[in-house]
Amino acid sequence: MIDILKIRADFPILSQEVNGKPLVYFDNGATSQKPQVVIDAISKYYQEINANIHRGVHTLSQLATDAYEISRAKVQDHINAQFLHEVLFTSGTTFGINLVANGFASILKAGDEVLVSALEHHSNIVPWQMLCEKTGATLKVIPMNDQGELLMAEYDQLLSDKTKIVAVNHISNALGTVNPIQYMIDKAHQVGAAILIDGAQAVPHIKPNMQELDCDFYVFSGHKMCGPTGVGILYGKEAWLNKLPPYQGGGEMIKEVTFEKTTYAELPHKFEAGTPNIAGGIVLGTAIDYLNSIGFDTIQEQELALLNYGTKRLLEIEGLKIIGTAAIKTSVISFTIDGIHPYDIGSIIDKLGIAVRTGHHCAQPIMNHFNIPGTIRASFSFYNTTQEIDRLVEALKKAQMMLS
Ligand SMILES: *Cc1c(COP(=O)(O)O)cnc(C)c1O
Repeated sequence: MIDILKIRADFPILSQEVNGKPLVYFDNGATSQKPQVVIDAISKYYQEINANIHRGVHTLSQLATDAYEISRAKVQDHINAQFLHEVLFTSGTTFGINLVANGFASILKAGDEVLVSALEHHSNIVPWQMLCEKTGATLKVIPMNDQGELLMAEYDQLLSDKTKIVAVNHISNALGTVNPIQYMIDKAHQVGAAILIDGAQAVPHIKPNMQELDCDFYVFSGHKMCGPTGVGILYGKEAWLNKLPPYQGGGEMIKEVTFEKTTYAELPHKFEAGTPNIAGGIVLGTAIDYLNSIGFDTIQEQELALLNYGTKRLLEIEGLKIIGTAAIKTSVISFTIDGIHPYDIGSIIDKLGIAVRTGHHCAQPIMNHFNIPGTIRASFSFYNTTQEIDRLVEALKKAQMMLS
């Protein structure tokens, strides 16, 4: 059983008032809140060991380097990557996808195909469009049904020996659909294609296992899993990371530089040009420790309870329609209310202390599929409660009265 009061006490922001009302934070899909241990670890880094890494012989530089590399090992362990040098620090999911898409520019040629799904975040669409423009490859889209589930029969049809890379999210940020990525990875490999999984929405809820999944790339951000902004991870299989060219040139990523020729550093440094977000990298490890201390079983149990309770309570509201009703979902409820613009609802309930996301959620093609401008999205975390859902329902009823 989850001790919800104890967990909530770990997050100082949750006991704040916003607009004179106790905060209800249901925008976890955009970014999660941070526990005190994470906040403390950031200031501890700057107070005690701040120095640049991988270059100094002095003690602080060594302490900072050790802490950074210990965190990398923690991530490796957490995602069960085979090698430490398959774990690259990035600034976030967006950067990781761009790094891979950019690298594939040296591999693709006209006539090749790139597959993305109809459920993607713009971050997992636009870099592939740019890649296709650059190389003459063609972008193909795996369609979905009206529940927000990808159509696997259509996916099988789209795959061919022309397919060079598939890019799909593990969990949809807009609808909460959990995609059948194991099936998709296995199928991509059967035609010799690489596959990148956008795990941004998955890592707050589950512990992904790289060696079991056998995907070629897996990307995520620290800030959606209780860590700081500006840091993320790109996992890549060793063979792929050796094959792809470096993304950015600069310090840290070189072995030797002359004006005639530069040789690149070994993995992972080949892809880590410049001074990274050192504090962020270290503290990502703290966030992972925190989530593991709660336990992903406990997290999932609480979030499933919130999803079920929230779905039942929201459907009591007249004219409310849930967008995204996949059989396997995470704790995200996207919805519309008849005759009322999502933005107006969002503004009114904000005055009542409730934070939700409204709009297209960086996933306009999904909104186009449903022929709507956007939704209201309540995304729950393990630190949320059913009482908070009750407050959301009350606030929505109030907003509905005011607006109709
Ligand atoms: C948030 C998100 C991204 C982008 O993450 P950043 O941290 O903004 O780089 C990409 N894909 C999905 C599914 C997301 O939820």
